[in-house]
Amino acid sequence: MPFPVFKYHPDPFKTKIFKRRDAAVVCPCCEKETFVTYEGPFYSVEEVENLCPGCIASGAAAKKFDGAFQDSESADEVSDPEKLEELTCRTPGYCGWQQEYWRAHCDDYCAFLGCVGWRELEEMGLTAEVSEDPGLDAWFKENLTGLSNGGSLQGYLFQCLHCGKHLLHIDCD
Ligand SMILES: [Zn+2]
Ligand SMILES: [Zn+2]
Repeated sequence: MPFPVFKYHPDPFKTKIFKRRDAAVVCPCCEKETFVTYEGPFYSVEEVENLCPGCIASGAAAKKFDGAFQDSESADEVSDPEKLEELTCRTPGYCGWQQEYWRAHCDDYCAFLGCVGWRELEEMGLTAEVSEDPGLDAWFKENLTGLSNGGSLQGYLFQCLHCGKHLLHIDCD
């Protein structure tokens, strides 16, 4: 089976939210064996582990366990509720220090690209672009150069699927 496409989380191996395993495990949703398991947040009453990518993409896991991969309150506003449903029920989440927050731009959710510090942003040539973001908290804006990947001030990089603009979410440990 081809690996599903997650438009809001396009490279989930790079972000380490999916793990390739040496031995197959059973997905609790479809009850089939999988070599790739989901390692990110899943908000449900039951403790659910080892979901396969297919059950996330189809919405089967969110439905079966009445769960969500992203808190719908912790995201920028988008007018189309179908997009929110795709984000919360059919998109792998990411792991933040605190409550994960999903950025939006051009009235759609952005693609999550991964965790970054100031050095990574410099390497990508994005420091000016992310500094201009009006959605960024003033304190964080003043302390952007203190961002470090894996450090106590962590950046999470997003990119608009429509205009290509890069946006950050920031939190602290
Ligand atoms: Zn499955
Ligand atoms: Zn945009």
